[in-house]
Amino acid sequence: MASAAKRRSAYDVALAQFNEAAQYLNLPEDVQAFLRTPKRELIVHFPVIMDDGHIEMFTGYRVHHSTVKGPTKGGIRYHPDVTLDEVRALAMWMTWKCALMNLPFGGAKGGVAVDPYSLSEGELRRLTRRYTAEISILLGPEKDIPAPDVGTNPKIMGWIMDTYSIHQGYAVPAVVTGKPISIGGSQGRVDATGLGVMYTTRETLRRKGIHMHEITVAVQGFGNVGSVTAMAMHREGAKIVAVSDVKGGVYNPAGIDPFDLMRHVKESGTVADYPLGDPITNAELLALDVDVLVPAALEGVLHADNADKVRARFIAEGANGPTTPEADKILLEKGVTIIPDILCNAGGVVVSYFEWVQDLQSFFWSEDEIRRQLKRIMLSNFDAVWDMALEKKVDLRTAAYTLAISRVAEALEARGVYP
Ligand code: NAD
Repeated sequence: MASAAKRRSAYDVALAQFNEAAQYLNLPEDVQAFLRTPKRELIVHFPVIMDDGHIEMFTGYRVHHSTVKGPTKGGIRYHPDVTLDEVRALAMWMTWKCALMNLPFGGAKGGVAVDPYSLSEGELRRLTRRYTAEISILLGPEKDIPAPDVGTNPKIMGWIMDTYSIHQGYAVPAVVTGKPISIGGSQGRVDATGLGVMYTTRETLRRKGIHMHEITVAVQGFGNVGSVTAMAMHREGAKIVAVSDVKGGVYNPAGIDPFDLMRHVKESGTVADYPLGDPITNAELLALDVDVLVPAALEGVLHADNADKVRARFIAEGANGPTTPEADKILLEKGVTIIPDILCNAGGVVVSYFEWVQDLQSFFWSEDEIRRQLKRIMLSNFDAVWDMALEKKVDLRTAAYTLAISRVAEALEARGVYP
């Protein structure tokens, strides 16, 4: 990852991206100010009883960026570097992502500054329950619906659902998505983000006359998004030549089988010591001579100081905010095609929307139906972004932002400003 000095604040990046796209929309300055300002931000400091009996204090956040188009939607991140600035940026990106997918949601995000892998399961459960209780004034199926993000998973979503439900006195499955199937989770949610990354990458390549079986791919991050992306692309015939995680990476020009790598990670906990390849650092992985680079870990990894080292022709943004505006400029000048995060990784929130709808109706769809609808929504909005890029002669990120912001601006116009 970039050093703190090199990294621009995530919210600063989100604002710069907004400003870039807003130029193409002719929106009055006061409307722009409304659209870019977060609606509400909650900071909570809360105690957790650790296994040895002592109390430890933690800090958590929940930010609602926009409620213009509906209740807010956005994941919860557990990571030691979580800050209000980062959560604010992630919430804003969720507003644009939901609008781009035409979902009836505004954007939110939450997080706790903690290394979840350093806690026992009991500590993690108590932390999750207390954090949920602390932010529950904001939560509800018609108010704000969290989901998994970095460091959280279906089990943690199950604890959130239970904690909220206990306080209501009845089960409320629609308060959170990404839950286990047994308590109202959706078929296909776990794979949704990675599958969406594959669909949008395959479609981008197709429009350039390239087939998936002709390409080499490097994936940074082998969590939910990175692992499913690698497996989905492998199934389509792509050769995955490098994969990394927080501890380092592995490189094999002959190809890595991500299913075998997953078996290894389940045992050893990391890709870094996978024996069927050579060790590689995260910095080296980003500079590999591959066709497609998939950053699927954290934001800000491609920045002014390393963008010129990137040799990939395509970047599929599995992570949120992996490319700073300075890096964007360098990469676009080099002719790299970037599939922007709010389009590329939107599969997760699309299936989260399906999960919410299924929970509200207590009627559940088959996995085939979920995949069919996911593909339909992603590809129709992909088309709209592609057409906008051609029409305005801009890159895909600017096109995606322009489309998303215009949809929120239209909703704001329809609602008006109270009172
Ligand atoms: P995860 O916790 O499942 O996996 C994160 C991966 O990144 C892990 O392999 C971890 O080791 C690696 N990582 C963490 N810090 C790193 C570092 N400093 N250097 C290299 N690798 C590092 O998280 P996830 O859900 O897969 O999310 C990954 C990214 O995708 C995030 O930006 C997230 O916001 C975004 N995203 C997730 C979803 C989703 O549905 N889970 C949806 C859209 C976007």
